[in-house]
Amino acid sequence: MTRGVFPQQPSSWGRACGDPTTKGVVLDFYQGKVLRVDLGSGKAEAEPLNLEWAERYFGGKGLLLRYLWEEVPPKVDPWSPENPVILMTGPFAGTNVSTASRLVVGAKSPITGILDDSYAGGSFAPEMKFAGYDAIIITGKAAEPVVLWIKDDKVELLAAAAKYWGLKTSDLEEALRDDLDEEVKVLSIGPAGENLIPWACLSTDQFHKAGRGGHGALFGAKNLKAVAIRGTGSVSVGDARAFLADMRRIHKEYVLTPFNLWANEEGTPILVDPVNGAGVLPTRNWSAGWFAGAAAINSEALLKVKVGNRACYQCAIGCRQVHEAGGVRGEGPEYETIALCGANCGVDDLEALLRFNRECDEWGLDTISCGAVVALAMDMTERGVADFGLRFGPSAAYLAAPGLIARREGIGAELAVGARALAARYGVPELAMEVKNLELPGYDPRGAFGMSIAYATSDRGGCHMRAYPIADEVLEGTRPPDTLEGKAAQIIRGNVDNGFIGQNFSSIKFSGIFCDFWAVTPGQLAQMFKHVWKREFSEDEIMLMGERIWNLGRLFNLREGVEPDALPRKLYAEEGAFPEGPSAGKAIGEEAFWAALREYYELRGWDERGVPTEAKLAELGVDVRL
Ligand code: SF4
Repeated sequence: MTRGVFPQQPSSWGRACGDPTTKGVVLDFYQGKVLRVDLGSGKAEAEPLNLEWAERYFGGKGLLLRYLWEEVPPKVDPWSPENPVILMTGPFAGTNVSTASRLVVGAKSPITGILDDSYAGGSFAPEMKFAGYDAIIITGKAAEPVVLWIKDDKVELLAAAAKYWGLKTSDLEEALRDDLDEEVKVLSIGPAGENLIPWACLSTDQFHKAGRGGHGALFGAKNLKAVAIRGTGSVSVGDARAFLADMRRIHKEYVLTPFNLWANEEGTPILVDPVNGAGVLPTRNWSAGWFAGAAAINSEALLKVKVGNRACYQCAIGCRQVHEAGGVRGEGPEYETIALCGANCGVDDLEALLRFNRECDEWGLDTISCGAVVALAMDMTERGVADFGLRFGPSAAYLAAPGLIARREGIGAELAVGARALAARYGVPELAMEVKNLELPGYDPRGAFGMSIAYATSDRGGCHMRAYPIADEVLEGTRPPDTLEGKAAQIIRGNVDNGFIGQNFSSIKFSGIFCDFWAVTPGQLAQMFKHVWKREFSEDEIMLMGERIWNLGRLFNLREGVEPDALPRKLYAEEGAFPEGPSAGKAIGEEAFWAALREYYELRGWDERGVPTEAKLAELGVDVRL
């Protein structure tokens, strides 16, 4: 048998599945090694990957959650040095499987106080694998700002205060390439992370972000400016001939199809028109679901200023849209940025939106939370609640906001507390649109009722990436949008036939780690998973693994004291219905919402408080307990 390696270089690692020691054993897909770094003591050591957990939870999200369960001290203050930040890869990272060379970053979020798994593309994850690591666990706090520099098995902490601290993200990457290695891959924070802005994100390959949940702030709290990594090893795939032949077939049959190639041609801005048409585009701080200026910031408008595509490592889809207008060049904006920083801020000026997006990228801010907080400040100013000098629409104040927030200067110092705390401070909590303190993304449940349950039960707070009923309710029209009937079951299982990802399936898909933009199915995952563990997987087993992972996440959140599953009241109360627009007069209704939540718990095999029962945990093979 030929042993295949990516890239084609001699391998020092390989594997036999099921051997938890990994020492001297040839591993396929996994590197079998976890790097543990304590920034406080400056010590770094490698240890074997727990292959028993890898077999049970696969990789990516699932394996990350299992490590978080073990590594996060129960009830730890998220800001404390003891809260680890874990970088995790998936088994396919570093191979030629499309969209699967992604990185997941996990920790107890300083925003929500519960788990947060946030994903970034680019080429950091394959470089981790080439350096020999499946995961990196970072704990402690450095006495002075540092860069963690990893070159294969050589690990160093570089002083960062004089040269790197204070740099924006693109400048930092360039400086580290100049100073360390022109091929180095960097995961870094901008000034926003240094200044502990709760929604500071992590950046890699300039425009790729692990955006949600505040991982950038946690890097800042650890005095960690960046992780820079360079690997010269490879990833073994076992029988290379069989693997490559199968991947060629899979790419041809399942990846390079019209079902996915919209992402290459137009990317997520393609969502603007149908979402606006359905009346669920958050507009002027969620005061409307339809934006009159949408045509100025939709896909058609962006195609006029598109100058190219970029792709993550070994991705055949290549969805990254490069735009240039008004002297600003950059990747994006993605749909969520258009929704939150565009329509929700009343901004119908494409150049202004591109500039705002680029400002967020360079300062290191999550655009969803940033747009939400700026829109809230605009709303408060318009209503006379407070005067932040921000009003709906493009303006110099709008463009200055990301920099002020990142530096905590002027109004930025006030806005930096986040939507919930800002609205509460001025006595208008009803104006903050968040779930579990995470600002909501770009779909208003008042015209797509399934999103109410998706948001309320998401395992990381206000998030659209765990279940996406928008595919059914808005894009395909395969289910009526204005009822909750049958929606609880769909939120759990999804509808893979039309790209509606449900919570169980997203959990195993993100353990792959497959990108959202490949509408992969459980059956297709099974065809790839068999190469990793050298046995057949059924679709049912794939779905069961996903459900296992979702339940593990629920246990973690319960252990840490998760808030009740609920929404901002106006999103489901009768009086919260829109007076006009395509979804005018539609109201979810409080009774219907609570009934659907009860149904959701029941279908999950959880008790009435949302706690998984012992019978369910045993059935799923979850190996931890509260
Ligand atoms: S589809 Fe886009 S974001 Fe996803 S892996 Fe490919 S290039 Fe990266």
